[in-house]
Amino acid sequence: MNLTDIPRLSLGLFPTPIHRLDNISRELGIDLWIKRDDLSGLGLGGNKVRKLEFLLAEAKAQGAEIVFTTGGAQSNHAMLTAAAAKRLGMTPILILKKRGVTACRGNQLLEKLLGTEVIFMDTDDYSDIYAEMDRIGAERGRPYYKIPCGGSNALGSLGYVACAREIAQQGQHFDHIVCAEGSGGTMAGMALGAMLYLPGTKVHGMMVDTDPFDEITPRLMREAAALIEEEVDITTNNYDLRDQCGPGYAIPSAEGNAAVRLMAEKEGIFLDPVYTGKAFAGLIAMAKEGAFREGEKVLFLHTGGAGGLFAIAEED
Ligand SMILES: *Cc1c(COP(=O)(O)O)cnc(C)c1O
Repeated sequence: MNLTDIPRLSLGLFPTPIHRLDNISRELGIDLWIKRDDLSGLGLGGNKVRKLEFLLAEAKAQGAEIVFTTGGAQSNHAMLTAAAAKRLGMTPILILKKRGVTACRGNQLLEKLLGTEVIFMDTDDYSDIYAEMDRIGAERGRPYYKIPCGGSNALGSLGYVACAREIAQQGQHFDHIVCAEGSGGTMAGMALGAMLYLPGTKVHGMMVDTDPFDEITPRLMREAAALIEEEVDITTNNYDLRDQCGPGYAIPSAEGNAAVRLMAEKEGIFLDPVYTGKAFAGLIAMAKEGAFREGEKVLFLHTGGAGGLFAIAEED
């Protein structure tokens, strides 16, 4: 079983472009490039499309008619799951934590346009939500499939193993790849994919939540490697993690907001305050600390987040 043997649906428009950021390269004194997974072709784009290609292939194969997922009120993942499920003729049901902006703005507005059933649960514990999925699934009496928060299990992580392979096929070598880490699947897939397909590339995960990613990242990498029957020796030589959470998950940070503005003003590209702005702030900090050596090429993975940008306001 290797990556190409794992069932996968086509939901996005791949490969996503890679291009240089000339103005910010000049400003930071580094050779900076961006991979545009914000242009992944479903909804308003974003990283969850790659995960859903694998997850919903399994759902379809199992005969699921209902697709459940979860997240915060402004979850980009939940919105994209709804968009994908609709396109595939399945019924999405989103059971979201009653945390964050629940008003009809941002991703909530998009879910309304998608005609999606949204249920808010006043809990901080995802196990309550997964139990509610089983209860509702049984009540509806139709076959259902549960996708975890962020689509971050081993199967979903394969989306970013595939992304690393796509980067290799695009033909340029990068010394560093920088991405956000929110529920872990993107970073784990990218770090595993780099070990397999991008020799000499180090992946840096910018943690925007406070979960124990030092444990989650290698575990997801090992589980994803097992799915594709790859033998890898996972050590922290292959990747590193950096805390960019600031005041808390989904709460904008001053550095993150400044990074959002820099990307908009210099390059005409929009980041978001929850994930990509904080991740890009981490890249800027690394550049200022001299973490990228002369002549090295740095790739920033733009994971999307446009939906949340219209709901989560700047604090300063
Ligand atoms: C979910 C998300 C991330 C984080 O990806 P994980 O795989 O959950 O770590 C990054 N950026 C955006 C815009 C997201 O929606």
